[in-house]
Amino acid sequence: MADDYKGYKDEALAVLMKYEAMVWCDVVVSTAQTNFIGIILPRSETSDHLHIVLKLRSGYNVGILADKVTDIKIEGRKEAIYKIPEKEFPYDPVKPNVKLLGTGGTIASRLDYRTGAVIPAFTPGELYGSVPELADICNLDTEKLYGVFSENMGPEQWKGTALAIGKAIESGVAGIVVGHGTDTMHHTAAILSFMVQNSPVPIVMVGSQRSSDRPSSDAALNLMYSVKTAAESDIAEVLVCMFGPTSDEYGLLHRGTRVRKMHSSYRSTFRTIGDIPVAMVSRKEITPLRQDYKRRRSDKNVIINTAFEEKVGIVYYYPNMKPDVIDSLIDNGYRGIVIAGTGLGHVNKPLYPALQRAKEKNIAVYMTVQTLWGYVQMYVYDTGRDMMELGVVPTANMLPEVAYVKLGWALGQTDDMEEVKRIMLTPINGEITEREPSNGYLIYQGGIPEVEEFISKHRK
Ligand code: ASP
Repeated sequence: MADDYKGYKDEALAVLMKYEAMVWCDVVVSTAQTNFIGIILPRSETSDHLHIVLKLRSGYNVGILADKVTDIKIEGRKEAIYKIPEKEFPYDPVKPNVKLLGTGGTIASRLDYRTGAVIPAFTPGELYGSVPELADICNLDTEKLYGVFSENMGPEQWKGTALAIGKAIESGVAGIVVGHGTDTMHHTAAILSFMVQNSPVPIVMVGSQRSSDRPSSDAALNLMYSVKTAAESDIAEVLVCMFGPTSDEYGLLHRGTRVRKMHSSYRSTFRTIGDIPVAMVSRKEITPLRQDYKRRRSDKNVIINTAFEEKVGIVYYYPNMKPDVIDSLIDNGYRGIVIAGTGLGHVNKPLYPALQRAKEKNIAVYMTVQTLWGYVQMYVYDTGRDMMELGVVPTANMLPEVAYVKLGWALGQTDDMEEVKRIMLTPINGEITEREPSNGYLIYQGGIPEVEEFISKHRK
């Protein structure tokens, strides 16, 4: 069968054939240095011809150079199960109805996404087959909007998702879950906070850092917590629901405009920045950590506004940046630029002429801070004052990515720079706050007494 050596070529293929070791074989691969125990994974068309890739027992993948292999012992063969057993999702008239919209990402993948061997687990039946606990919470209806890793999400998909949320609310669901890749989930959470306003129900974004074939996967728990939040919570906002602490005791619900992916591989990667999360969610309960959230309502008066100007960019300032970086955006017709400046919001003096040019061309330039925590303060140093003269507008404590999507959204609605400024500086859902609580900053640094104190305060 062609798939027996799927994706393997030349050197790697020759070694596998020599030992009659095929894809999905459970093997011990020996090299002069060590033995590797795991399953031979298929490779994608574009991968090299030198490596054999194993999924180790730990769940991690390893690439072994074919010409270093001294022996392959076959212990068995596991066929890839491309089909998740479908079980009909039970319908219970007394349970709330939840809509799950899929956009892609690891949460929608069954096997390691880098091998190309992925399947979407997305129909209600498939989800029920893999996480039967979901049926204890609600009736679930699923719709696959996209099947992309989240670096491929952009204005077109943001608009499509916002419109699908509007339709689901119209249909009277109790809550909505949006499955999404984690890498850019905070961009989508922010833009949905602007495109979908006054929602009567929770809109809960969820993803997973580790695919569901790995023993340490966070997919099932995150899914359960997000579905529970959508079905039962009274928080009618765009939220991100992901793994809370390093253990799997609870998930955290983060406000869509104040959240960021902060670790490339930890499951506890999403943190609320500049604030504290909205709530904790466990299998048993949802515990609010604050009271200033928008409540669930029984009407359907959601407002969907999908305007978006794509000619907007973020410039992450670094020492010795040359003005040509800004000039090239101006020359390419950009209408908005968000700068992530140093400290309180600074860039070097050589950039000033380019900023002056941007001002003359009526380009909206907004300042945020690279520190992520804290406020832009342009009155403290001359640099800040000079830049304000050049038309650069400070955005208080808005996160750079949030300012980027909000500026695109604002410029999509108007050319009037005063109106853009009004939109940018009027908080819609917590993207600018009056102050940042120190407990938010301290608690989420991990492993310090404040964490214990925080947990003991909120857990019974
Ligand atoms: N690269 C993936 C994505 O963002 C990672 C994930 O889903 O966690 O789509």
